[in-house]
Amino acid sequence: MNLISNRIRGMQDILLHEGESWLNVCRIMEKRASLYGFKFSRTPALEYTNLFERSSGDSSDIVNKEMYTFKDKSGRSISLRPEGTAGIMRAVLEEGISNFTLPLKLMYNCSCYRYEKPQSGRYREFFQFGLEIFGCDNVSAEAELIKVAKDILSDLEIKNVILQINSIGCKNCRKNYIDNLKKYFENHKSELCKSCMDKLERNPLRILDCKEKSCIEIVNKAPIITDYLCEKCSQNFAEIQKKLDFNEIKYEVNSKIVRGLDYYTGIVFEFLNNIDGTNLAICGGGRYDDLAETLGGPKIFAAGLGFGIERVMLAIKHNNSDFKGNLPQIYIASTDESSKHFSEKLCNILRKINVYAEYDLLNRSLKSQMKFANKIGAKYVIVLGDDEIKSGKANLRNMETGEETPISILQDFEKEFLNATKN
Ligand code: AMP
Repeated sequence: MNLISNRIRGMQDILLHEGESWLNVCRIMEKRASLYGFKFSRTPALEYTNLFERSSGDSSDIVNKEMYTFKDKSGRSISLRPEGTAGIMRAVLEEGISNFTLPLKLMYNCSCYRYEKPQSGRYREFFQFGLEIFGCDNVSAEAELIKVAKDILSDLEIKNVILQINSIGCKNCRKNYIDNLKKYFENHKSELCKSCMDKLERNPLRILDCKEKSCIEIVNKAPIITDYLCEKCSQNFAEIQKKLDFNEIKYEVNSKIVRGLDYYTGIVFEFLNNIDGTNLAICGGGRYDDLAETLGGPKIFAAGLGFGIERVMLAIKHNNSDFKGNLPQIYIASTDESSKHFSEKLCNILRKINVYAEYDLLNRSLKSQMKFANKIGAKYVIVLGDDEIKSGKANLRNMETGEETPISILQDFEKEFLNATKN
């Protein structure tokens, strides 16, 4: 058979076991974030292009090279969101920040699109679980974000995660730093890779996270941002470290973390996990106090983070965490038409009390039903036939131990089922 189309390059299908594991990851993230007071939000996947040009910065790689941009039927320039924060900020500004009680804590789980070279952990469609705190002018916001991220990583049992922090300064102190950085790199221009030569004009900060060996050597001797911070930024950077120490959270200071988006100011951070020899950022974030004004709104203090869900899934796989998915508690097999009806009824009863129960939908033989029950990992099985229906009793078989417990399938079925499966 010839399929009419294939999956688009850089996009993924998530099915079955992986889908279950995905759902589990999202539930864990959402549950933990709820405990910190974050409320779920959703914004459209499509926005006017200028939102991202203004927020991410028109010198950024994302805007320059990676956005999916097209004209709609009315000729307006529209883009698929390359990240979640800009849309959330746009929504908050549109609603009016004064209509919210501060601090405003929002969470979202959204698809993002970047036309990057696909590779492991880098896709053209990926999902971000993001958290944003609006209206907090001090490092308590960054600390809260780092704490919730730590808790999520520990809930997911992802080990060997390194937290790195930096401050990229506010617009005042950063300017002086960038001037000096530019001078330094200009003296080493001939040694930089082609892409960094380009960045030298557009945004020299980005040279700091270049992965080319020749550039890394030059970057290692480059001026360090923390030597240029103004009093307020230095104070904040010292404060966050104190807060992390107070919360017994280990971290490293890495002066090369600059993040890929122009809107960051002050403290930035990344959680890295070593996957197959490469340190991949599974979560990144920081403060972005100027974004609201950049988008034409009032000053809004803001900080946020984003987990890449695909990278979290990779980290889980890499950690050999054997997530089994949601396995059925029971499969109720049947031998003929009337017992099939009965098995459906019993499943209805159990599903009502939140038990995951399955029965035959395909009119299969008993042998095939048992094979299926095994395949889907049902913990218990009941086989219904004439005898069981007449007597009102059936054997509940524990598929792991082979132990059988007779239970009533007429009166008090759910009670007897719960009793027999208590352990
Ligand atoms: P960023 O918006 O670039 O700070 O990214 C936030 C998080 O999203 C990163 O830490 C990654 O975990 C994830 N991420 C960014 N780009 C991609 C991509 N192309 N594919 C998969 N995950 C990504």
